[in-house]
Amino acid sequence: MIARVIVDVPTGQTDRLFDYLIPNQWQGVINVGMRVVVPFGPRHIQGFVIDITSSSEVKKLKSIVDVLDLTPVLTEELLELGEWLTETTLCFKISAYQVMLPAAMRSKVKKEIRILSDGDKLPASVATWFQKRSSVRWEEIVQSDPGLLKDFQHELKKGRLDVFYHVKDQVSKKTHKVVRPNGEGDDIEAAIARFDARADKQKLVMEHFLDQRQEIPVHDLVEKLKVSRTTIKALVQKGMLIESEVEVYRDPYKERTFQPTKPLPLTNEQQQVIAPILDSVENQSHKTFLLHGVTGSGKTEIYLQSIQRVLEKGKEAIVLVPEISLTPQMVNRFKSRFGSQVAVLHSALSKGEKYDEWRKIHRGEVRVVVGARSAIFAPFENLGIIIIDEEHESSYKQEENPRYHARDVAIYRGHYYSCPVVLGSATPSLETYARAQKGVYHLLPLLTRVNDIKMPSVDIIDMREELREGNRSMFSRALYDRLNDRLEKGEQSVLFLNRRGYSTFVMCRDCGYVATCPHCDISLTFHRSQHAMKCHYCGHQERMPSTCQSCESEHIRFFGSGTQKVEEELAKVLPGARVIRMDVDTTRRKGSHERLLTAFGEGKADILLGTQMIAKGLDFPNITLVGVLAADSMLHIPDFRSAERTFQLLTQVSGRAGRHEKEGEVIIQSYTPEHYSIQQVREHNYLDYFQEEMNVRKQSGYPPYYFLTVVTVSHSELANVVSVTEKITRFLHEQLQSNHTVILGPVASPIPRIKDRYRYQCMIKYKNEPSLVKVLREVQQHYVRETTKGDLHLSIDMNPYMMM
Ligand code: ADP
Ligand code: ZN
Ligand code: ZN
Repeated sequence: MIARVIVDVPTGQTDRLFDYLIPNQWQGVINVGMRVVVPFGPRHIQGFVIDITSSSEVKKLKSIVDVLDLTPVLTEELLELGEWLTETTLCFKISAYQVMLPAAMRSKVKKEIRILSDGDKLPASVATWFQKRSSVRWEEIVQSDPGLLKDFQHELKKGRLDVFYHVKDQVSKKTHKVVRPNGEGDDIEAAIARFDARADKQKLVMEHFLDQRQEIPVHDLVEKLKVSRTTIKALVQKGMLIESEVEVYRDPYKERTFQPTKPLPLTNEQQQVIAPILDSVENQSHKTFLLHGVTGSGKTEIYLQSIQRVLEKGKEAIVLVPEISLTPQMVNRFKSRFGSQVAVLHSALSKGEKYDEWRKIHRGEVRVVVGARSAIFAPFENLGIIIIDEEHESSYKQEENPRYHARDVAIYRGHYYSCPVVLGSATPSLETYARAQKGVYHLLPLLTRVNDIKMPSVDIIDMREELREGNRSMFSRALYDRLNDRLEKGEQSVLFLNRRGYSTFVMCRDCGYVATCPHCDISLTFHRSQHAMKCHYCGHQERMPSTCQSCESEHIRFFGSGTQKVEEELAKVLPGARVIRMDVDTTRRKGSHERLLTAFGEGKADILLGTQMIAKGLDFPNITLVGVLAADSMLHIPDFRSAERTFQLLTQVSGRAGRHEKEGEVIIQSYTPEHYSIQQVREHNYLDYFQEEMNVRKQSGYPPYYFLTVVTVSHSELANVVSVTEKITRFLHEQLQSNHTVILGPVASPIPRIKDRYRYQCMIKYKNEPSLVKVLREVQQHYVRETTKGDLHLSIDMNPYMMM
């Protein structure tokens, strides 16, 4: 038999199937969706088996040298999904498959086969390996007789064995020692009788196993019986106890206890929106819903109860949450409803932890996954619902190959499994809402907050006016008064500062010189804690200069304002206020994010000051004031979505106020208060905002009226970049001729140089361009070939979210 393999060499020439012979002993063992090691040129590399056939056009075939899995890691469905990803994002096949698996599976891992509890039933060929031990190294078996893997695979399927992977990080934490008695009850009694008087500790241990014969962690035994590890070791040496190691999942939420919660009786409005979702679950019909609910309207309860129905039907659920709102608070809501059936996948986990969670899914030990973007690839085989919370978040788009959007993958999988996809948001993306209006998605509106809680009142303060009237502080008088008022009442406030566009840059007051990165065309950012300037794109770092590089003046300062500066200012104007600051600096350490939030929740501070990371998910009853220090910082980023993002962020932040009995108030400070994306926040009127934004998009020819594709070329020589981009643009002009297609460029990218590479781009706007993928493939193939000699880089983004 012949395996057709996609190899781990991401280049244009190798982006196809390669044929390899399956050695006799692995006929039947090797299956589609498994990873294998194959000879490729002088090296041995990893690959995925995509197909198995009996003939090949190639005459002299090489053989597969190793099998990495005994059960497929990619299901038929995921293999098909990979094909689709390749087609829709123009990526290499190998990238499409790799993105679906945890990173740990790419690295070299040591494998062991372990015996599970009912090991007695193993056939002799397998059992002999486990006579004196509980695990066997994979290589030992392969080296002794590769044909044995077939027997092992068989037992693995029966659940008597398990493959155990040593992932490099935190190996030590992954296992613990357990002991069980050797023999039956009579044996134990006999052994106890034989102990002499001095061995009373050993006796104690054996007595434990008289009425309790299961294995027990050594650690627990030591605690429980107050004996030492040496005592237990002695018993193992005497052959009375059998020691083995068992895997402990590195569950980051293990230490916590979850208060179980019950489904809440739904409000009328909630009942109306959940009905069509449950129908879709019942009828197993794929539909995409847009659950458009204001902040605090009880969307999460809808998710929970929909999932419950899915679980009752024996199916599985994926819930996507943006990385930054994947807080313990959020996770708890799912864990406390569904307990240990929930796995969590997010980037703060170590490689090993992610891998553990993935394996729980793969082995069917959990049925709900809550996670960030890549959790959309959870290897479930009986999906019953996919939920994307905050569907408008741009982090659902991956900004490297494969440049997929989780929403598209969700709909693909929903289609495959005939199950509903629920997109939830208070501020849906324009694309999504437009589709809902057209009836492509099914609109489910939740227009009021639960329990008739009012939306907070929003005041917009014109900061130019403040300046005119002599207030030079970063706090308007209105905001200052409200903060003071909350302090007196003992209520809490949240102060929000947008990090993007608000970083501190270093400028000379005499000549206007701004310190920029020597490798990228952007200004350096001042970092107070290290007293250094850093480039956010390439990581270049230099000391804060004492004089200007251009005119040698000593009046060189940092400008702009970060959270640290606001904190200092707060200390001056409201000396009595206790402040908790949350930004990248204060939350770098693992667990600090949660610690700070818990402290705030417990009332240990009056003001929570922070960046994006506090915009979401905060739900504390005592927050009655939200202040936004500079609403326009995002508005001026050169991106057609900047107004949309401003509206979304402001609405999100406002939603943190007055979510419970006490009424909430929001103060938004702005230098462009007349802008519609800021004004509409006051009215809590998404639809009006939507209409206005749609008009702008229509006039300027952007999504959702047009589709966008951006081709970016980069190279260390500017002339080269320009000429290649020109050629590509010309080629596109010749090839794409639909009426509505517009090709713009070549122009320098918004950031024209990163890491000493110049960047040029051309943009395609189109409504319907059936040959686009084919044409872009040609561009790719042509220039990928050039890449090999010229270090030219070409990237194609079929649906860009980062215009920078
Ligand atoms: P959203 O996700 O739309 O912002 P949440 O799901 O967080 O809203 O709900 C806001 C608050 O209302 C939460 O404290 C939640 O527990 C509560 N809640 C939701 N549904 C109900 C209900 N049917 N009855 C009572 N309280 C509810
Ligand atoms: Zn740089
Ligand atoms: Zn100067």
